[in-house]
Amino acid sequence: MNITAPHSDTISLIGNTPLVRLQGPSDAAGCEIYGKCEYANPGASVKDRAALWIIRDAEERGELKPGGTVVEGTAGNTGIGIALVANARGYKTIIVMPDNQSQEKMDTLRALGAELVLVPPTKFADCNHFVHTSRRLAEETEGAIWANQFDNTANRKAHIEGTAPELWEQLEGRIDGFTCAAGTGGTIAGVGMALKELDENVVIALTDPHGAALYNYYANGELKAEGSSVAEGIGQGRITGNLEGAPIDTQFRISDEEGLEWVRRLLREEGLCLGLSSGINVAGAVALGKQLVADGRKDARVATILCDTGFRYLSSLYNADWLRSKDLPVFDWLGQD
Ligand code: PMP
Repeated sequence: MNITAPHSDTISLIGNTPLVRLQGPSDAAGCEIYGKCEYANPGASVKDRAALWIIRDAEERGELKPGGTVVEGTAGNTGIGIALVANARGYKTIIVMPDNQSQEKMDTLRALGAELVLVPPTKFADCNHFVHTSRRLAEETEGAIWANQFDNTANRKAHIEGTAPELWEQLEGRIDGFTCAAGTGGTIAGVGMALKELDENVVIALTDPHGAALYNYYANGELKAEGSSVAEGIGQGRITGNLEGAPIDTQFRISDEEGLEWVRRLLREEGLCLGLSSGINVAGAVALGKQLVADGRKDARVATILCDTGFRYLSSLYNADWLRSKDLPVFDWLGQD
């Protein structure tokens, strides 16, 4: 195990996250399943990477100037990443967020000094959707840029230049499959594109939650959503700029119950406290691993993303009343009244 030299600044703490072999998922799949510990980023999620790449790109293009403001619409994690990077670089942050996201994310954003604008959750076509509201605010604010994580491909570049080469190095150039869910699609598209460049035989699979339209799109060309999910940060209804050209070979659809069962097992059996998108990703990785084994690749290695920390969801995923209110199974060690 290498221990690295001191970092010269806090920004360089983003990325270079550990990769861990997951025992239960590997046993279930019959091959090796690895999780990239993105909760180990300073903002405790995968979105620190996109935040850094987007801000650096705007600086390099001369759009973001000293003392400027970064405005973004986000389910929360990107906002946290942006607030941290903006603080370190001397920018202000304005975050527009649907008001049904976790209380912990809102509290964290306020604690980091971001100006928080809450809007009701609406469909993307509604002009008051958080994404459109954030664009308008950026236009109205002097010296502001709009991060535009959904269509700004500096987002997926973070994964082309960071996440994918890290995975390749950590697995010593032997990786058979990669899968994760899509919010903006930056992770799946960026990692997928870069891994395919390194080895065209790597199978890239989209893992979609219920209520998202991408499973049907990649399966039969139709952007059609079915069902719903309480997972935050994932579940996309359109082909974002970041998803354009993503090399998706196959796709899985995973229920909240299945994702939650992996959240429960990873916590109780392996000591990892994760959010639901991580559980859904792990369920997808097990499905992909099983498929590769069935295709004769018995020693397959599959990687996925452990997107954020479960500490961000103590009042929801890890709260018995909340789980009951969503008709989801309550973890057996949480208050049984
Ligand atoms: N999981 C969580 C918890 C997230 O916040 C996000 C980002 N929206 C994702 C997964 C998906 O990442 P991406 O935007 O790169 O598709």
